[in-house]
Amino acid sequence: MNQPGETTHFGFRDVALSEKQTLVNDVFHSVARRYDLMNDLMSGGLHRLWKEWMVTALNPPRSEHPFALLDVAGGTGDIAFRAAESSGPGFKATVCDINSDMLGVGRERALARQLEGQVSFVESNAEELAFPNSTFDAYTIAFGIRNVPRIERALGEAFRVLRPGGRFLCLEFSTVDVPGFDRMYELFSFKVIPPLGRAVTGDGQAYEYLVESIRKFPKPAAFAEMIRSAGFSRVTWQSFSGGIVALHSGWRL
Ligand code: SAM
Repeated sequence: MNQPGETTHFGFRDVALSEKQTLVNDVFHSVARRYDLMNDLMSGGLHRLWKEWMVTALNPPRSEHPFALLDVAGGTGDIAFRAAESSGPGFKATVCDINSDMLGVGRERALARQLEGQVSFVESNAEELAFPNSTFDAYTIAFGIRNVPRIERALGEAFRVLRPGGRFLCLEFSTVDVPGFDRMYELFSFKVIPPLGRAVTGDGQAYEYLVESIRKFPKPAAFAEMIRSAGFSRVTWQSFSGGIVALHSGWRL
């Protein structure tokens, strides 16, 4: 149980645990329409490669064999669309997000790609998923978990909704520790991203939150330990692009 008055981080600010979700929701309501464009601009298109990397690790079946994916904090649907496009007719994805504006953009994109039969959208909180126990073959969360106030609860929910034998995959910004590159990355993060966010979305503070929240997220070994504590087995991780992102994997056995 969280105690009244318990605090957490919203970027570099200490805020009440109960306040963080409201602040995070404001960020994504504000940037939803320009979210995909900003991802391309900020990462120079690299986010596409990182997401492709996650879907390759997921390796959904290309057959008619049924396979149910839950993509949590799925926002505008990138992971679910990529997975649907590289899988067979038995594949179904549920994109779950707490933010109706992000889901609204996702629904429009699903229609444009004619994926509405394979990808559905549900508004739900990662900390209290609106799905029964043992429902999904895989759970993915990309650039989402650091926004969730109670990460342990979200991991517990991931374990609950996965079937035994199910796969957990988390793609998240991580820690750059390549000498020289770390200084450049720091400068780019704090001096370029917020002004770029202000110019493109009108909300520079949203992108200040983004870079600050990345610095506050646990290091990969510590996050792996949190995943193990939630009950997952065979937990591993790999870093990509000099540590800008890491992909964590675990199994509900
Ligand atoms: N996964 C998408 C991608 O990779 O493009 C979107 C990632 S976006 C950076 C983070 C998403 O997390 C937002 O859509 C936000 O609404 C969602 N989010 C934040 N807190 C959440 C929560 N408690 N439960 C579910 N989704 C949440």
